[in-house]
Amino acid sequence: MKLPPALPSKAQLERLRATATYRTLNLCSLGAGVQSSTLLIMSALGLAPREIPRYDAVIFADTQFEPDAVYKHLEKLQEIAHAADIPFIRISAGNIRHDALKPSGHYATMPLHILGDQGGRGMLRRQCTDEYKVKPIRRSVRAVLGAPIEDGHVGKVPAGRYAMQHIGFSFDEERRVRDEPPGAYNELEYPLIRLRMTRQDCMDMLAQYGLENTPKSACIGCPFSGNSRWRAMRDTQPDDWAAAVEFDEQIRHGHPAAGVALKGRAFVHRSRVALAQADIDRVTAHEWRGRQGEISLARYEEEPPGCSPYGCRRTEIPPEAAVEAGA
Ligand code: SF4
Repeated sequence: MKLPPALPSKAQLERLRATATYRTLNLCSLGAGVQSSTLLIMSALGLAPREIPRYDAVIFADTQFEPDAVYKHLEKLQEIAHAADIPFIRISAGNIRHDALKPSGHYATMPLHILGDQGGRGMLRRQCTDEYKVKPIRRSVRAVLGAPIEDGHVGKVPAGRYAMQHIGFSFDEERRVRDEPPGAYNELEYPLIRLRMTRQDCMDMLAQYGLENTPKSACIGCPFSGNSRWRAMRDTQPDDWAAAVEFDEQIRHGHPAAGVALKGRAFVHRSRVALAQADIDRVTAHEWRGRQGEISLARYEEEPPGCSPYGCRRTEIPPEAAVEAGA
């Protein structure tokens, strides 16, 4: 299998850099989940041209540890982009699973659930989203805007070049938006919120175009996964489930490249029990009913927000879980 490169291809760079010399680029940060897939469809079909222009490119940062269903979905999105002449940029900062387990060298901590030697509970800091998603996308945005590239390092964007970066947060996710001023060369834009489109609206639209089974994008062994994701994986994606169980066992003593012994044990399931034995069938129905409509702890446990590079975790995680999550 051909691995994704660290930066856009030469042909992609040439095309986008030429455009960036005379106008603002419209880029889409594609997570490949429901909302960002909707952005791509709407852009390709011109369904709301004022809010969602024809993108100059969509950018997907691949951790190389996504479920098989996400990679299959990506192929469909790639076809849609291709048919609309929207360059599809797929980049990667490396294989997160391999890096997390290798004995030395560069790695980024995953938000693993820790059970300390004395029984204390904690969580490792989440560096992975930044390293495998935020930074590669930022590098690509600078590169397509014409920043010089030397030995893989991307320099500063020339003055006067600018990009609007569209992010797929739906109207019901408004609280996830980080209040950030425009940057020197880019600005984040949330068109689905502007269009008041909810996640359900997005799913309805995807269904109209044959994408009703759009999967949730997240690493197979992501510790932010809730029971519903683990259950679905176990029951419908046995290969992914086997990979998650194996990863959970292999990460028990933390990231080997950390160089210092972990004072406790690390788990991908928030109960801090081996994934193979964790009670992933537990459904807190009474909590669901009692807290309908809120992002409650119960809902967070069942269906945590996806791994967005652009979400603010302080508002994504309910206060009860925030302390534990280190948010
Ligand atoms: S999906 Fe989870 S493990 Fe993967 S980068 Fe995001 S937070 Fe890290």
